Amino acid sequence: MPPVLDIRFHGNLKDLLHPRHRRPGQVAYTLDRRASIKDIIESLRIPHTEIDRITAGEQDVTLAWVPEEGGRVDVFPLAAPVDPTRPTLLRPETVEAIRFLADVNVGKLATLLRMAGMDTATAPGLDDRGLAEKGAAEGRILLSRNRDLLKRGRVVHGHLVRSQDPREQLAEVLALYDLAGKTRPFSRCLRCNTLLQPVAKAAILHRLQPLTRKYYHHFHICPACRRIYWRGSHRLHMERLLATLGHTDGHH
Ligand SMILES: [Zn+2]
Repeated sequence: MPPVLDIRFHGNLKDLLHPRHRRPGQVAYTLDRRASIKDIIESLRIPHTEIDRITAGEQDVTLAWVPEEGGRVDVFPLAAPVDPTRPTLLRPETVEAIRFLADVNVGKLATLLRMAGMDTATAPGLDDRGLAEKGAAEGRILLSRNRDLLKRGRVVHGHLVRSQDPREQLAEVLALYDLAGKTRPFSRCLRCNTLLQPVAKAAILHRLQPLTRKYYHHFHICPACRRIYWRGSHRLHMERLLATLGHTDGHH
């Protein structure tokens, strides 16, 4: 008889398991082939990006650990506040700052993160391999609803976005990385992620619609794509949204 691993999943990792394993959060896994704990856990539907710690008996182990005997393994989720700028046993490779790369399946989340001032790249032309590579090369946290993408070995830091609602997704990400108080609404271009610069009204007057020209006096411009921003209704809407998420706007 091959040995059996008694794998116990903790916290929100249980919700990611197949429904038959979900309630107990426990899987009896038969070791009938040689595989890393990463491969074993991912075969149970949980991307490695969601895991904070793995222990075998009393010992912390890495994702590359290959179990050869039966026994108990505990798998713990990443939980707020997550700080990917500090090394851990599972992720010795850190990022310089909290910056994101958003998959196309969370496109609206990407726009909301930019509205909140978070550095959020997108790359609609890239396939999964390209996205994983870009995230790793640029030290960005990959945000996606695609588990297979996040299972890729090249992905270091990532988050499987749980909610399907963009506003809830924003709350989810801001809470996970403890970004409360770090939001800077409307400091970044929604179209291309570049930091905005103030611009004199006179310099852009020819580009403004009559009502905007009449009622607004303070403008910003994106130095990359030249899009113009002013304090319109969508901006007030965003400030209200951030306020409901418990974030204060210290920027204006
Ligand atoms: Zn722009």
